[in-house]
Formats: sequence, C-alpha cells, structure tokens
Amino acid sequence: MPRPTEVPTMSELPAGVERHTFDGTDRLATRGEPVYGEPTDGEWRAWNPNRSKLGAMLELEMDTGVTGGETALYLGAASGTTVSHVADFAGPTYAVEFAARPARDLLDAAESRPRLFPLLKDARTPETYAHVVESDVDVIVQDVATRGQARVALENRRFLADDGRLLLAVKARSEDVTREPAAVFADVREELSEGYEILETERLEAYHADHLGIVARPR
Ligand code: SAM
Repeated sequence: MPRPTEVPTMSELPAGVERHTFDGTDRLATRGEPVYGEPTDGEWRAWNPNRSKLGAMLELEMDTGVTGGETALYLGAASGTTVSHVADFAGPTYAVEFAARPARDLLDAAESRPRLFPLLKDARTPETYAHVVESDVDVIVQDVATRGQARVALENRRFLADDGRLLLAVKARSEDVTREPAAVFADVREELSEGYEILETERLEAYHADHLGIVARPR
C-alpha cells in the first residue's frame, strides 16, 4: 500500500511576530518602539534578519518552539537590536551584556519595554546574576560571538526549564579564524551535547556568513 505523502510541517511564528509590509516589502515585524533605525508603521517595526541571528532563524523557518509570552534569558544583548524584538513578544526578558558601551543603548531600548531587564554581567559567570534571573526560563537566546560559545550555553543551562529551548547562534570565526566553519560547528555541537539535545541546525549563510543556528533542549 502506498504510504501517505508526508507534508513537512511549517514552523509557526511566535504570537506577537507577524509579517507586515514596509516600503512594499514583506518583513517580519514586532510591535514596539523602533531601536535601530528600522522601518515602522507607528505600531509594528520591521525585524531585520541581516542584523539579527534570531531574525534569520525565523526567516529560515527553523522550528524554535517559541510561541510567544515566554520568559527569556538573552545572552550577548549588545545594544538591544534583537533582544528588543524578543521583549516585544516574550514575557520577562533578561538581557545579559558585559560591554558597558552597547549596554548604554540597551538601557534606552528598555525604557519603553517594561518587560526588558538589562544586566551588565558576564555570561560566563552565571552565578553573578542567578539571584536576579528567575529559574525555569522558557527560552535562552544566545549570540555572544566569543570563543567558548558552547561552554556559555552549558553554564547557563541551569536557568532553563526542562522543556525549555536554547536558540543559539554560533559564529565560527569567534572560535577559530583559521579553521573551516564546518569543523568548528562539529566541535561546538559535540561539546553542547554534554548538556543539550540538539533538535535542529541550519547555516545562517543567507543572512550571516559562517554562522550556525541551533535549536536545542536540555538533556
Ligand atoms: N545579539 C545581538 C543582537 O542581535 O542585537 C548582537 C550580539 S554581538 C554579535 C555579541 C555581543 O555579545 C557583544 O555585544 C559582546 O559584548 C557580547 N558578549 C560577548 N561575550 C560576552 C559575555 N561573556 N558576556 C556577556 N556579553 C558578551
């Protein structure tokens, strides 16, 4: 008997992330004050996947498992480009950034976002913010672009709920500029598997050179 044709499931966007048209172009968008000069219609603002690895992961229809309203821990928040979009659709959003200069802009992004909590902390020492971040967060988003990206994810696993998701962007050149990205990604995946089950990976090449997007859950 012929098997029924398998229809691939399209991953859905989280509630609070929609497609809107800006300047005649269909774009991902969240509802909030603009942060980085992105187009806005006064209510919705475009989410630029070329400026955001998570935006790229959503454009590539990776199955993030995020439905909207989740508690989020964001590692490597920089000046708030991506984490501001996360705070637009998520619940309480803790944003860790260790560099003072971008953190100042992050504070500005947080002004109109009561659910966004900037933390001037080093993501390699989670014990320094464990008293602030609630345990059992639903999603960790990580984009630190420094050496030891898998280790950072493993160190912060303690905050993640058992059924939570890690959405990780790995920059190959931050680990080792001399190695082939594919070899770097293989090592990161192996190290990550100490504490996570990897559900999906996708090269973000269309938007970010030599980056891998990873969706994982705690083991
Ligand atoms: N995620 C940002 C966005 O999409 O808007 C861009 C992040 S940028 C690629 C990486 C950021 O991670 C930098 O601002 C850097 O200072 C920060 N970072 C790197 N290592 C870190 C660490 N150990 N703790 C906290 N922040 C870190």
